Amino acid sequence: MDRSFLKDKKRIVVKIGTSTITHTSTGNLNLGKLERLVRMLTDIRNQDKEVVVVSSGAIGAGRKALGIKERPKTLSVKQACAAVGQARLMMIYQKLFAEYNQTIAQILITKRIMLNEISKANAENTFAELLHMEVIPIVNENDPISTDQIQEENFGDNDTLSANVAELVKADLLILLSDINGLYTDDPRTNKNAKLIPYVDHIDAALESMAKGADSNYGTGGMTTKIAAAKIAAEAGVDMVIANGEHLSNISRILNGEEIGTLFKAM
Ligand code: GLU
Repeated sequence: MDRSFLKDKKRIVVKIGTSTITHTSTGNLNLGKLERLVRMLTDIRNQDKEVVVVSSGAIGAGRKALGIKERPKTLSVKQACAAVGQARLMMIYQKLFAEYNQTIAQILITKRIMLNEISKANAENTFAELLHMEVIPIVNENDPISTDQIQEENFGDNDTLSANVAELVKADLLILLSDINGLYTDDPRTNKNAKLIPYVDHIDAALESMAKGADSNYGTGGMTTKIAAAKIAAEAGVDMVIANGEHLSNISRILNGEEIGTLFKAM
């Protein structure tokens, strides 16, 4: 499928998974990668496109800061880690974006915001104003007060959150960066015949069960949550691409219309 129409996308939401910005071996933030990411996002902004980032990594950064070795199980510990880590994460983003003179903002939201007309309208107005001011908003779930996302491993996650944000800001494109290349016909780690699906024009039950088979164990959201995100995005009229965040050049290649990852076409 010809993807040259992606070159015209103006308002772009980029979701960064924890796996993309941390070293898998240690769980520490991968500063070299964060630096390249920030440079690339600023460069996209410099092309007069609007960028919204949905970044995970707060709990991971908080764990490191607090010296907690094991993945926390208790909700209050996860929330404390998120509260400490979110500040650290933003401090690093702030520092790196400042090198390029790019102003950023922090927006912490919960899914509940989307359910209330008044808070939804407030959030919409804030995003609109920030984008008008050429700011890059950096969004995360407000984990310290919201229990939707971190309570259960695979329910509520930054995948669906990023689709909600894409809907809220009426984005033209949502790019989900993860530790997988895209949607496969089966789990590529166990089935070498599994094939990458480059294009999905509608999500049905067969596709959803395929996603279950290809579920990834890393991070919070597996393929199931990515399909849930694709559904929200498609219904909101937002095209979405799932691609591997290991190679950050994937972002510019997607925006250049190259066939990277899986493209989910909006309805
Ligand atoms: N909001 C969580 C964090 O920043 C991550 C959730 C996710 O990875 O989907 O740590």
